[in-house]
Amino acid sequence: MHAVLLLGSAESALPQTLAALLAPHGLALRYLTSNSSIPGSYWGESEAGLVGHELLVRPDTPIHSALHEACHYLCADEARRATLHTDAGGDDLEECAVCYLSILLADALPGFGRERMLADMDAWGYSFRLGSARRWFFEDADDARGWLVRRGLWNAEDPATLIP
Ligand SMILES: [Zn+2]
Repeated sequence: MHAVLLLGSAESALPQTLAALLAPHGLALRYLTSNSSIPGSYWGESEAGLVGHELLVRPDTPIHSALHEACHYLCADEARRATLHTDAGGDDLEECAVCYLSILLADALPGFGRERMLADMDAWGYSFRLGSARRWFFEDADDARGWLVRRGLWNAEDPATLIP
């Protein structure tokens, strides 16, 4: 099993890009020091936390975790965003949509990308009916994609935009 990629220092290119991607949607990336515990972290340890309009991370937070929690924020409506804390809520289909969107957004991060995201999701222990995140993404995710399109979070005609 390979080790999942981590965010690294706040000044490096990847977290800077992630912060710039999320800021227009009202979500701020907040870095904590390496040994502090992360408020709002559902899984604890180094996993990303979500509290209202803040995504809380450390340098040793896995990139897949930061992306996943960010996508919970993006998929929640305005009313729920304000009250987000630890458990992002939402139903099973929304959870799938969150996974799908996080794989799309992975392509926007330098040195990461969707293939690495899919491999890291498997390494972390996401489980999918077809046995891998990659097979789910390409073969079994029509419902997740449809959800994103209906919510206006993804434009299939212009995938480069990801989110309007
Ligand atoms: Zn989730």
